[in-house]
Amino acid sequence: MDNQSKENIRLQNYITYLNYINDKLKKFFERQQDYIFCKEGCAKCCKNAHFPYSKIEVQYLIEGFCNLPFELKEKIKSNIKKTLLDKKQSNDKNFKYTCPFLINDKCSVYDYRGIICRTFGLMSINKKGPVKVPFCSYEGLNYSNVLDEKENKVSEEKYKQLGFKEEPLAFNVSYDFLTNPDFEKGFNFSFGDKKALIDWFMETNDSINL
Ligand code: SF4
Ligand code: SF4
Repeated sequence: MDNQSKENIRLQNYITYLNYINDKLKKFFERQQDYIFCKEGCAKCCKNAHFPYSKIEVQYLIEGFCNLPFELKEKIKSNIKKTLLDKKQSNDKNFKYTCPFLINDKCSVYDYRGIICRTFGLMSINKKGPVKVPFCSYEGLNYSNVLDEKENKVSEEKYKQLGFKEEPLAFNVSYDFLTNPDFEKGFNFSFGDKKALIDWFMETNDSINL
């Protein structure tokens, strides 16, 4: 089998994995619907962040990019150039940015978006740390109806007052967990290197050209 065929199989296996976690995430969001205020046009989670992406995620994202109309592609390319320039000029190791694929507050590559993008808005927990409430909770959005801002956690009292059937829950949807090697083995693909989305477009040997 040639390298291109192997690459195609690898990508197909990644898509199977994506469908698997998508189903799980869909169920989590449905269970938590009383606490979720995501709606079209709200794109706060696509701004002012790092967006970790593995190589295979960015390859799939580019597949979505290639299917876009010419003008949109040009707009995204210009966003990428501007973000890279801003990053260079900022000298900030913790540089945060608006995702270049966000156009008019809408994801231009929604079906092809990465794993982190699919988890935005859920409360998460992993072995290493406490429950993480989504940042937008502090802006009156997800879980804000049960948030105890002083304690940085969900208020049981508020939940009881609201009387919802389903309690507010945190799920193991951290990026580290969802990209762990067990998934690579189980679905027969590899994530490859991981870095901030914008760094995949820097002028280095392993950069991605659009
Ligand atoms: S890929 Fe789409 S969902 Fe993900 S950060 Fe960018 S605009 Fe948002
Ligand atoms: S996760 Fe929060 S910021 Fe993102 S779309 Fe949902 S409500 Fe808006």
